Amino acid sequence: MSKPKLLERELNGTICQIWIHKRTRKSITVRAKFRDEIHIGVPTRLTWYEIYRWIYNHNDLLENLSCKSIVRQNTTSLPESLYYMGEIVSFDFAMNNILSLPENKINHETWLFYWKKHAQSILLTRLSQLSKHLKLFPDKTRISNAKNFWGVCRKRSIGLNWRLIGAPDYVIDYVCIHELCHLQIPNHSEKFWQLVLTYCDTSDKAKAWLKIHHNDLFSV
Ligand SMILES: [Zn+2]
Repeated sequence: MSKPKLLERELNGTICQIWIHKRTRKSITVRAKFRDEIHIGVPTRLTWYEIYRWIYNHNDLLENLSCKSIVRQNTTSLPESLYYMGEIVSFDFAMNNILSLPENKINHETWLFYWKKHAQSILLTRLSQLSKHLKLFPDKTRISNAKNFWGVCRKRSIGLNWRLIGAPDYVIDYVCIHELCHLQIPNHSEKFWQLVLTYCDTSDKAKAWLKIHHNDLFSV
């Protein structure tokens, strides 16, 4: 099966990602996962020209589906459980014991807002502790919402993905140390990895954990 193709299109005034999946089926199927994410399954026999023309001609249908998915996301997309510091905890536990929020009447946006805020305080505190320990000081630290990386160090500013809150502490430490070491060595040379290893002897274990749980942590 070929890789899905991504098309970006404005629907209802929002830039929407349209993923096109070629499949061995006879008809076209459309599913709006979120307001800004639609998946279209198309028969392999169709050419890209025919597919794009179909999308162009079905703009109303796509806008309607996209609109409906707002309701679906806000009412039903609260998770039943989630990863927290390497453990799976129930949503109720996360609300009551970690965030101390009343779980009734909470919607997806609200809980995610508080969850990210909580992640920010834990992750940036740990980064600052390790920074003092390693005597490597970034100019700026922040929390990132990136879809494709755990940490980043650019122009002496370090960003940590808030989803790292799902990982065990040795994994959080590894990502912090990795980015702090970039303050000294910006590339991924052998010298860099040696430096990481001097501060973090569990880096291989941490990298393996992130590889296995990538999708779990990014599903939030
Ligand atoms: Zn790196």
